[in-house]
Amino acid sequence: MKLRTENVSFSYPGRAGNEKKYIFRDVNIELESGRIMAILGPNGSGKTTFLRCLMGMLKWTSGISFFDDRDTNTLSSKEFWSKVSYVPQQRMATSSFTAFESVLLGRSGQIGFLSTPKKSDIEATEKIMEELGIIAYKNRDCNTLSGGEFQMVLIAKALVSGPELLILDEPESGLDFRNQLIVLNTMDRLKEKGISCIFNTHYPKHALQKADCSLILGGDRPYFGRTEETVNEKTIEAVFGVRAVINEMQVDGETIKNIVPLYVTEKR
Ligand code: ADP
Repeated sequence: MKLRTENVSFSYPGRAGNEKKYIFRDVNIELESGRIMAILGPNGSGKTTFLRCLMGMLKWTSGISFFDDRDTNTLSSKEFWSKVSYVPQQRMATSSFTAFESVLLGRSGQIGFLSTPKKSDIEATEKIMEELGIIAYKNRDCNTLSGGEFQMVLIAKALVSGPELLILDEPESGLDFRNQLIVLNTMDRLKEKGISCIFNTHYPKHALQKADCSLILGGDRPYFGRTEETVNEKTIEAVFGVRAVINEMQVDGETIKNIVPLYVTEKR
């Protein structure tokens, strides 16, 4: 998997031509297999819009994106979605499918219209639910699950088709401490298997701890690069208007980064 954008910009229809109304301009990113990318930025800075453009739900106003060196405009949605899965921002279930049935639905690309699931579909569903630690509630109706449990079902559903790239829109928002960690550690496990992840987040700490590269929207220009170079005290202050300190802790022989917000500044 290789994903790349070349000077992509976006303005909602009716706004094009008016420079001030661009949501983002000239964004260049590059993501390889088994890499995690975070997208940060204040509310309304265009994180969700950027994801929607990447997935072809919206068209870039200008610029090109490439998936495996092919212009994404030339890929059929079937080709694209056979390699990419998406977990939208959704916290509560509205259907009364069981957790198992919901995850199994993620295999619909393999199962085919009006066919019944094969043994391999059932096995793949059970396997991913076991891996994500949610097999215990396979028979529970989704509308009885907590937000965190349901979020894990959605991630399992996205993974059961065997994607090369997983895109998550604020996967940790609204989750408790433990479930946040489970989601973040799941991305680490996917990375070990060569699967790439892109996640929008409101937590610079999660980018610092998990993401190989980060994109920051909402500043005077987009910032993209290795997380340790992109997410720093200067960019946080410039983009969020928050004076913060980034420090490092040594835990079990590992260096872990943390960020402490101190106060709001005028710089944004
Ligand atoms: P974020 O995910 O960073 O909070 P969004 O991508 O949701 O930001 O929104 C970026 C900007 O685009 C916001 O100012 C929002 O109001 C605007 N916006 C979002 N959707 C539409 C739309 N369909 N039409 C016009 N403007 C929109």
